[in-house]
This record gives sequence, structure tokens and C-alpha cells, in this order.
Amino acid sequence: VLLVGLTACVPMGPQRSTVAVGASSPGQPAVALTFDDGPDGRWTPQILAILDRYGVKATFFEVGQSVAARPDLTADIVRRGHAVANHTYSHPNLARLGVASIDTQIDQATAAIQSAGGGTPTCVRPPGGSRNARVDQRIAAHGMSEMMWSVDPQDWRRPGTGAIIQRATAVTPGGVILLHDGGGDRSQTVAALPAIIENLQSRGYTFVKICPQR
Ligand SMILES: [Zn+2]
Repeated sequence: VLLVGLTACVPMGPQRSTVAVGASSPGQPAVALTFDDGPDGRWTPQILAILDRYGVKATFFEVGQSVAARPDLTADIVRRGHAVANHTYSHPNLARLGVASIDTQIDQATAAIQSAGGGTPTCVRPPGGSRNARVDQRIAAHGMSEMMWSVDPQDWRRPGTGAIIQRATAVTPGGVILLHDGGGDRSQTVAALPAIIENLQSRGYTFVKICPQR
């Protein structure tokens, strides 16, 4: 399903995605910050505090079992005006799963998000970006869009705060930046986030959330 518009998720290949942001007009470039693998009791609150400080909205691709463990964090994300989307229930490689297992991963994550008060997610981001025709088809069959990214700073590898800043700020208008608020030590991501936001804001970028839940 290819959608275009401010709220659309536009799949463009295994690790390439550009969000069709309506605000991405000349002089008003827009970019989307996305955070995967949370929520996490240590890192998610720190990231939320930074986003609030700068008045920036973002999108969180959450792991269902982590939502089930800390539904209060998902509720907090939504209360602060961010978007919550589906990053499967237990973060498997979907390309290695059959139809029934893919469906279970999607459905259980959606149920966990709904139970937490996060609404109904409209997008799935396959863990690791691993997808194939079957994965694409099952996501579409759920009436959901598949959302990838355009810039991967590889923050989960902990390359250093400076590297994360440099890579993230190489984004171009309409881009989608992939970062992580869970799945390991995210101290470098937290440390890099203010500089990423300040850099992009100083260059005229606005931040938009994508994949809003229903
Ligand atoms: Zn992930």
C-alpha cells in the first residue's frame, strides 16, 4: 500500500523510506524522528523529556512485550502527543516467519498497545528492516502500512555520540531518522538527541510525527 500525505507511511525498499510530509515545502523542510525497540523504563522517559524541552513530536515503534511490561510508558508517550506504532510483539525476524506467526506478532503488539491506551497503530516497522513479499502482504492485509526509514545512524551499535549526531543530521527534507529508545544501553542516543534537534531546527527543519494511531 503506497500512501502519500502527511500521515502516510511510504515503503521504499528494505532500508529506504521517505515520509511524504506535507510541510516539506521549500523553506519549510520537515523530518520525522522515530524511536524503535521501546518502551524502556530507563531511556524512554529521558527521551520524552528532551522532546518536550524542544517542543518536538516523534513516533515510537514499540515492541509489544515491552509495552505489556510497562503500559504506563506507552500511555505517557501518547499523553505527550507522540505517535505509537507497531514493531512486533517480540522483535523476531519477520522474513523468517510464516503467515500465522507474522499475524500473531502484529496482532499481539497491536493488542498490547491498545490495552495500554495507545490506540490502534496504523504502521508496522519490521525488526531489522527484514521484509519480503509475505511480510509486506500480511502488513497490508491488516490494513496497516509498512514504515521504514531513510537515515540510519546505527545508534544501537553505540558508535559514539558525535557519530550519531553527524549521521542523523545528514537527513534530507522529508526524511525519516531511525533511533532507538530501548534494546540496550541508549545513553549515546540520549546524549546525541539535543544536538540533533538543535542542528536541524537551526537549519529550518520542523519535526513531524508519522503513522498516527487511530
Ligand atoms: Zn527494532
